[in-house]
Amino acid sequence: WVVHKFGGTSVANAECFLQVAEIVEEQLQLNISSSTDINDLMNIAVVVSAMGGKPKTTDLLLDSVTAASTRNSELVEEKLNYILYKHDTCLQALIDQQQLSSDTAETLKTVIRKDVEDIKDILKTVALMKWKADRISELVSGYGETWSSQILNALLMERSRKRYESNKNVLHLFRYLDARRVITIDEDEIKNGAVCWDICKEKLNSVQKEELDASKKYLESNGIEASQKHMMHYVITGFVASNTHGVATTLQRDGSDYSAAIMGRLLESNNITIWTDVDGVLSADPRRVPDSYILPEVSFNEAMELAYFGAKVIHPKTMNPAIMAEPQIPIYIRNTFNSSFPGSRIFTSSTTHTDRERCVCGFSSIEKMAIVNVEGTGMVGVKGVARRLFGTLESMGVNVVLISQASSEHSITFATTIAHAEIAKVAIEEEFHKEIKQQHISTIEVVAPCSIIAAVGDGMHLTTGVAGKFFSALGDAKINVLAISQGSSERNISAVVLENESTRALRAIHAAFRLS
Ligand code: ADP
Ligand code: MG
Repeated sequence: WVVHKFGGTSVANAECFLQVAEIVEEQLQLNISSSTDINDLMNIAVVVSAMGGKPKTTDLLLDSVTAASTRNSELVEEKLNYILYKHDTCLQALIDQQQLSSDTAETLKTVIRKDVEDIKDILKTVALMKWKADRISELVSGYGETWSSQILNALLMERSRKRYESNKNVLHLFRYLDARRVITIDEDEIKNGAVCWDICKEKLNSVQKEELDASKKYLESNGIEASQKHMMHYVITGFVASNTHGVATTLQRDGSDYSAAIMGRLLESNNITIWTDVDGVLSADPRRVPDSYILPEVSFNEAMELAYFGAKVIHPKTMNPAIMAEPQIPIYIRNTFNSSFPGSRIFTSSTTHTDRERCVCGFSSIEKMAIVNVEGTGMVGVKGVARRLFGTLESMGVNVVLISQASSEHSITFATTIAHAEIAKVAIEEEFHKEIKQQHISTIEVVAPCSIIAAVGDGMHLTTGVAGKFFSALGDAKINVLAISQGSSERNISAVVLENESTRALRAIHAAFRLS
């Protein structure tokens, strides 16, 4: 197997769907020319996100839930109508261009219409209760992937049928697969759940049997002899999963990359390609740093750190299944709209890698953050302050992204999201109310909005002066650094700056390392 994942940007409209179909077919073609024995050909698992564009389907769905919880029925109607319009327009364009038969397109339109009716029913409950339960958001937000994958599946299947009619070579059967039939998450696990690999494997086995039977039936009902050369491929919903109770959940925002990697490991695939709207992993977000450049090779760890610090091109969890797999699975990042470009390869770091002249590979930033400063003389040398502090934060579910402690021990600073910072402040004030009363703790201050800027690279620990260069670049640009931190892996250095200075900060450090 090989896995190809297409993000929302790759399926934003009918033209994009056609582009995706061509890429998938090209992969089948590559298969055939490099091998003649059908048993050697690769099966393809295509993983699809919800239709992107402005606004994205997933946002429309989530907005409709929010609108329902505030009983804004007009807004609910508006969001859901736009979803229908978006999908209808796409399907209509595929009919007009004779890419999809009107029967198939009408069937799909009916499916989507019925789903939207179901969503309306669900949202009625939300409005009655004036309450946006997480479960409901998880269920509703996952519909977009089921629609985009059914559209892509139908498109690939009809085109495949046409090719087969004309050349009678190999018939490629595409099967739509709702990932909730396979991917199972234990939500009770601390922090965002964990994949239940054994359950997934078991479910995949039975799903594969069912799909094989269904394909046989398809051949029979279409009067095609089973002895005819044919292969089965899947078109799989990204983002969605089931929990251990069989209830719909998701892998969280931008989780389709993670879906692709999970399917990659389950199918023991040879590689995973993430198709998106940029040429690969770049040295920085091209929207922020116009002269960012492509990184042909990135290690798993570098990709993870870049993603953790905000590089949206790949979800930070995506690397885990690829690393856990035996053998490990390389991940390619490629551009749907520049498909001849080889893109970036994410794999274990090779020697050429640490040798490369630039010890820093890339820069990223997380926006909409806040820092919390806890200061006071009573913090000097007192044991257990940090433990109590971070214990409190953990019990409140505050996600700490970066910690920095001044060497004087007069203060502890940590970064978190703006929403969590307020929760944190209240919780800390409660936990340390005695120390505050005795003035051992003088200030608990929140500074927002901030950005965390990070430099990432495997070679960092081998080179001296990286931190110096990083901070002098910020100093030269007269950027006020609010907190600094170096990851224990020495694979990143990060700084917190005010949000309105973050683009300038990113450009300054990007330029400093580029000139080296
Ligand atoms: P998709 O819909 O394909 O999942 P995303 O919008 O999630 O696409 O991710 C692709 C975007 O990530 C790019 O358009 C780019 O603006 C952004 N991005 C941020 N940092 C980087 C980086 N270091 N390299 C490449 N792209 C990046
Ligand atoms: Mg993405």
